Amino acid sequence: MVSMALGSDRESRHVHVLIVGSGFSGLGMAIRLAQQGVRDYLVLERGNDVGGTWRDNTYPGAACDVPSQLYSYSFALNPDWSRSFSKQPEIQRYIQGVADRYGVRDKHIFDCEMTEARWDSDTAHWQVHTSKGTFTADILISAVGALCEPNLPDIKGINTFQGKVFHSARWDHEADLTGKRVAVIGTGASAIQIVPSIAPKVARLDLYQRTAPWLLPRNDRPYTSAERFVFEHVPGVQRLYRAGIYAAREAQVIGLAKFPPAMLVLETIARAKLRSQVRDSRLREKVTPNFRIGCKRMLVSNDYYPALGRDNVDVVTDGIAEIRAGSIVTTDGAEREVDAIVVATGFHVTDSPAYETITGRDGRTLAEVFEAEGQQGYKGSAIAGYPNLFFLLGPNVGLGHTSIVYMIESQIAYIADAVATIDRRGLRTVEVRKDVQDSFNRTLQGKLVRSVWNTGGCASWYLDKYGNNTTLWPDFTFRFRKLLEKFDVPAYETTTRSRDIEAGAESKVVAG
Ligand SMILES: Cc1cc2nc3c(=O)[nH]c(=O)nc-3n(C[C@H](O)[C@H](O)[C@H](O)COP(=O)(O)OP(=O)(O)OC[C@H]3O[C@@H](n4cnc5c(N)ncnc54)[C@H](O)[C@@H]3O)c2cc1C
Repeated sequence: MVSMALGSDRESRHVHVLIVGSGFSGLGMAIRLAQQGVRDYLVLERGNDVGGTWRDNTYPGAACDVPSQLYSYSFALNPDWSRSFSKQPEIQRYIQGVADRYGVRDKHIFDCEMTEARWDSDTAHWQVHTSKGTFTADILISAVGALCEPNLPDIKGINTFQGKVFHSARWDHEADLTGKRVAVIGTGASAIQIVPSIAPKVARLDLYQRTAPWLLPRNDRPYTSAERFVFEHVPGVQRLYRAGIYAAREAQVIGLAKFPPAMLVLETIARAKLRSQVRDSRLREKVTPNFRIGCKRMLVSNDYYPALGRDNVDVVTDGIAEIRAGSIVTTDGAEREVDAIVVATGFHVTDSPAYETITGRDGRTLAEVFEAEGQQGYKGSAIAGYPNLFFLLGPNVGLGHTSIVYMIESQIAYIADAVATIDRRGLRTVEVRKDVQDSFNRTLQGKLVRSVWNTGGCASWYLDKYGNNTTLWPDFTFRFRKLLEKFDVPAYETTTRSRDIEAGAESKVVAG
């Protein structure tokens, strides 16, 4: 590790490019920079390994909900996936394997948390404070993840609970739930994987549901050894298979973003699944969603509804009024005794704590800017007021239908080209022009107006507190890729590292 190589626990050094975070985004970025010959870069990662989401989410049943063939890097296809929807250990092993194969681990500093990043206009550097000392960088790349910071519900009395309480993304493997009375709070993507995994072994499971999700069939199956052989040895087959999955998923954009009534096709499939898997009419009524499919994230599962039908599982739809030392009290006055509570209430998405730590050119944090102006960026990759700072999975890059790795790779190409452009042209600073960013967002929000996320009748984490959809990309993903093909210098204000700098001045130009 670099920290060991430097021989000190508290670092202070300058690098050309500093990446923060090493999930799919940061790791992919590091590999790309290495491939284009950038040597002076580092990756800071607060965890003890690469993997991000897949290092942290170790709850029972954790698995991807986009087929692994697509939910993997295009430059590192894996013919060995054991099944179509891989489980967390296999995905984490894949990411670790990619880090090893591309030899970028020695560029990482693990257990190193960025606590503050501040733009210094005088030096044109980012000053980055971390748990292992201070770094300065010409270019900062934030890859801190969008679903990374557990969102803990503010429920009265939760701190007084005497049993185990933990978030799905911080699963307590010391807590043996066998034979225990367990409450699961939340019915999102993680909860629907947890519930069927633990229901058979707990004494009782109370599932606290605020909103019933739409569920689609999960076409999950193991790959045969013949299929894996073909993937590995017959050129092009795996890529073709992957392209087929991509195209099928991309078709959903028509209903999601362009013509929501088309979502009725998927809604019909989901209703049929609900009818066939939930025979008890009272339970079915409880778990029937009251909004158009796609408005909230569509979930895929074959074993969630059957788990809800078990004798030891109860779906509680009354809100939680209070948590006591050994029980949960709902708004109807009912009190249910419980030994452990699993909080599966998702993540801080539009209010990520990371935004409070990044301070731009005018001394405001990203959190302050977003609070005042709403969460906006340019191509999800840059934000006006934050020179030489790039984002992976910034505003409006999220998806409701396919692999986010496709978007991440599109951004990696764009940011890598930005770094190359900065180096080739001797640029000192690049900062997206506010008018360009505003115009980009007007178009984007215009497209979202008719989308199912804005019109489908639900409240979701896709929307910020102003009701704006600041998380999702409202079009086909290949259009995003096309848009980010090249770093578009004219969209940015630039300053150059001219010879004048030596004399203490700098020239400011808008490069064309
Ligand atoms: C349970 C779960 C299942 C999912 N399944 C799918 C799926 O099937 N398909 C799909 O497309 N997407 C899925 N996602 C979304 C998933 O987050 C992305 O697919 C992808 O993993 C994001 O990668 P990332 O590198 O951008 O972020 P992350 O994987 O979140 O990585 C961010 C990294 O940054 C580090 N970090 C954060 N803050 C700091 C700091 N201040 N200092 C230093 N390091 C920091 C974190 O420790 C982490 O390692 C899922 C998410 C979850 C939670």
